[in-house]
Amino acid sequence: MADEKGNEQRQKLGLNMQKCPLCDKKIPEDAKFCPQCGWDLTDHELTAPQIARIQEEIVDARFRYMHWHVVMVPFLTLSAVCILVYTFAAFEVIPATWDFMRFMLYIGLVFLYIWIALSFFRDRQKKKQDRLKMMLSHRQSSQ
Ligand SMILES: [Zn+2]
Repeated sequence: MADEKGNEQRQKLGLNMQKCPLCDKKIPEDAKFCPQCGWDLTDHELTAPQIARIQEEIVDARFRYMHWHVVMVPFLTLSAVCILVYTFAAFEVIPATWDFMRFMLYIGLVFLYIWIALSFFRDRQKKKQDRLKMMLSHRQSSQ
């Protein structure tokens, strides 16, 4: 009884947790199925439908990676343009007021920060892809 209570407490604190190999969500350590995606966590060789599902998830992650990548491109381009304009103005290649230069620099940095923030979402999809590929190669080679 005391053990059970302790167990419950630890689960609330996020201890006793494992990560689902498929969806990477935190789930209870003793779970047999992932409550998020339904993945069978009992240790066994991958079945054909499971392999198909992993391959589907890899395709999905690759699509999402490209999606984020495309979304990011304009922010980097705008940032580069603004900082370039600022640099030209700073070296008096083009005439500009201080206010305009400051504005260009700030906007350029804001676009750059957004680009960096978005790279987090993009790289998460890359990690997912790698993780699932590892999962396939490990499990298949052990057969
Ligand atoms: Zn899952």
